[in-house]
Amino acid sequence: PSFAELGLDPRLVQAVAKQSFEKPTLVQRKAIPLALQGQDVLCKAKTGSGKTAAYVLPLISGILKRKSTDPTSFTAALILVPTRELADQVFKAIELFSAFCSKDIQAAKLTENVSDVVQRSLLSNVPDIVVSTPSRAWHSINAAGLSLEKLHYLVLDEADLVLSYGYDEDMENISRTLPKGVQTIMMSATLSAELDTLKSIFCRNPTLLDL
Ligand code: AMP
Repeated sequence: PSFAELGLDPRLVQAVAKQSFEKPTLVQRKAIPLALQGQDVLCKAKTGSGKTAAYVLPLISGILKRKSTDPTSFTAALILVPTRELADQVFKAIELFSAFCSKDIQAAKLTENVSDVVQRSLLSNVPDIVVSTPSRAWHSINAAGLSLEKLHYLVLDEADLVLSYGYDEDMENISRTLPKGVQTIMMSATLSAELDTLKSIFCRNPTLLDL
């Protein structure tokens, strides 16, 4: 299938074309339809496979669909990444993919180098999508203005690294603040047994994509 056939909002298909993506990669072909259907997905995907677009595109598409009937602003998606560098990359990807719907999609990036004052002002604009490391997200939930009350989507990118960097406690703390029914997408380069913990905490009957 082409990007247009995957069920994404046309503004996203336009943005993908602008970046000269000719056709979806394997992980995009598999994960995008499942994510659009509302399923939890656990996906084995390496850097370079196109994994970022595989979750960012369906997330934005879902947020646009909801906003077309309900314009209220709230943080609908939290993307947790192990490093500041990956947060930068994911944030840039969101900006590129929302080029044709930039009025409707606000994103914020929370990392350790941002002060609480700056961060509070970022969050006072009620971003639809927050990209963060687990420690910064947990800090922000407690002390710097992040509300996950209405969260719809949670992404754990490079989930294996999230664990190896020692974010277990932050992840458990965050899990306790999530509302019921959040859709979770986990991306991981390996599907080790350690992921089972994260999977059992965050996923409901996930579809496994062992690509
Ligand atoms: P990622 O695996 O998400 O880190 O993406 C790796 C690189 O592939 C990024 O530079 C993307 O811009 C690029 N990319 C992602 N999807 C596609 C696609 N369908 N066609 C061509 N390039 C892509």
